[in-house]
Amino acid sequence: MRSTIAACAILVLLIGTVDAEQCSPGALGVSRTLVVDPKEHSRVGSMQYPETLPLNDHEVVLTFDDGPLPRYTNRVLETLASECVKATFFMVGQMARAYPWTVRRVYDEGHTVASHTQNHPVRKMSVAQAAREIEEGFASLREAIGDPQAVSPFFRIPGLLRQKSVEQYLAAHGDMTWSADFLADDWTRINNSEVARRAISRIEARGKGILLLHDIHPRTVLALPEILNEFKSRGYKIVHVVPAAADRPKTATSAQQWVARPTPLKIAQDLAKAHGWGDYDAEIMDTQAPQVSSSTSPEPMAATILQSSILRSLRMRAINWSCSTVCFRARRRSARRTSDSSFVELFPALAQALVQTPA
Ligand SMILES: [Zn+2]
Repeated sequence: MRSTIAACAILVLLIGTVDAEQCSPGALGVSRTLVVDPKEHSRVGSMQYPETLPLNDHEVVLTFDDGPLPRYTNRVLETLASECVKATFFMVGQMARAYPWTVRRVYDEGHTVASHTQNHPVRKMSVAQAAREIEEGFASLREAIGDPQAVSPFFRIPGLLRQKSVEQYLAAHGDMTWSADFLADDWTRINNSEVARRAISRIEARGKGILLLHDIHPRTVLALPEILNEFKSRGYKIVHVVPAAADRPKTATSAQQWVARPTPLKIAQDLAKAHGWGDYDAEIMDTQAPQVSSSTSPEPMAATILQSSILRSLRMRAINWSCSTVCFRARRRSARRTSDSSFVELFPALAQALVQTPA
């Protein structure tokens, strides 16, 4: 009898341990693993490309750029482990050479290791420079882990400074260029609650997507638990993305599932360009997406972004109103462009563009 109780106790203990290793009961967890073939889809991320990952509603892919930096990457890893979720880390080769044990930890904990160049240049590169940055970057990661198979062929261009030549080079070498679907601006001078707020309001506006964060900033480390908590309470699921391999066939998807629905920001920018409002582009880029509820679709948001950009731009110009002919002309031009008729002209076009937008 006593031995049976002892055996049961051991069994309970063992099961407990296994559970803890797998996932704690309340953890967010990975809902599914998406296996992708870079040869079929060489560029993803609706912020810049016509295709993005084939996610279902309320699915999120977590990505971290610019590491590893042990001080912060380790804390990011701890938070991810506590919620039992997996992410993709776009690492810089130089950093991988400095902290190879952190690259190994990322890999050992089941995350996807991806590249973000060797030196993180934030300027346009010549093809030769780009090739060097790409090859050296991947080589540094392979060396840090000691297993070439451990590094995914996923790559993100620093600063999202897309270049056709670079994208073509990557595609020709079987690599997948990743942009993103939404940002949380965690590299800017905002605090951690603002990072979390932006991540949440933007996923709520989109409904799904690839989130770009950085594992080298304290504000990101501090924001991450709140972001994951909010994801959990709002019913979002984490998807882990890995490359297809001989023993790992790609997830079956239809071509339609990869078609990116443009973000409100993209819709606003495209419309501004199409209507010769190109000089508002900078303001549109700067305008923070307003907080929206989950029921808000991208279209009204695009309109709000356009309106607030234009109003802000007008305010800025008004400050400079005591000035020369150049200013005077600019003032007249902006007055004309923001006249009622202009808006009236703009919004049917907006409606038209939205009809053509794939759902
Ligand atoms: Zn970067």
